[in-house]
Amino acid sequence: MIDSHCHLNFVDFDETRDVIINKSKKEFRYIVDCGASIEGNNRSLELKNKYDEFIKSTFGYHPVYAGKDDKETTDKTIEQIINNLDNIQAIGEIGLDFSENRSEDELNRQHKTFHRLLDVATEYDMPIVLHVREAEQHALEIVKEYPGIPDVIFHCFSGTKTTALEAVDCGYYLSFATNALFSKKHKKNIKAVPLENMLTETDSPYLSPVKGEPNQPSNIRLTIERIERTKNIEFKEIEKQTEKNAINVYNL
Ligand SMILES: [Zn+2]
Repeated sequence: MIDSHCHLNFVDFDETRDVIINKSKKEFRYIVDCGASIEGNNRSLELKNKYDEFIKSTFGYHPVYAGKDDKETTDKTIEQIINNLDNIQAIGEIGLDFSENRSEDELNRQHKTFHRLLDVATEYDMPIVLHVREAEQHALEIVKEYPGIPDVIFHCFSGTKTTALEAVDCGYYLSFATNALFSKKHKKNIKAVPLENMLTETDSPYLSPVKGEPNQPSNIRLTIERIERTKNIEFKEIEKQTEKNAINVYNL
């Protein structure tokens, strides 16, 4: 199995990280740890260096930070990403987040930074991991303007079925997480999206299926079981295909 998106670099795991990782080695081929800020990117790289061959890293700039940061911080974060392209499998998470009441200024900054990062991905031929919240169709329209980007992953996809199918038409990947377990909307999307365009993730420590406990990679099993029930495809086959997709998209 591969957890194609989680944040084991977060301080939430300071006490448990090594135990979780060593335990995961039995079940997982790879774990992809995603950065979302300068500090997070650095921690993700540290983790990758410590567990080389097992933990892989992506460097990103979360749209919520991008919307709030000053230009200097934004420039620095983008520079950090460019300086580390040899250490990472993709640029992300990046994207747009329209949830909550964001000011026009914030939304403008989010957009500006998103476009800059899409330019970087195009220039350096890097896949991207998208965080898009309440902006799925809008982000899709934007990303379509960058056909040079080799691969696109909608992390934790929560948009409509129409957007999902349009993304599939573009050859993009949709990643499903543990929040798909109890949601009708996700069930519909899981049904509609072909296995060939699917990834599985936990987004740990977020989206825990167990109240009061941080999520962890081993819970990916529950998402695969959800896909198994919904699509009526055997666990093993889902595991094999989603693993193949992750290896392909992240060049693992
Ligand atoms: Zn995430």
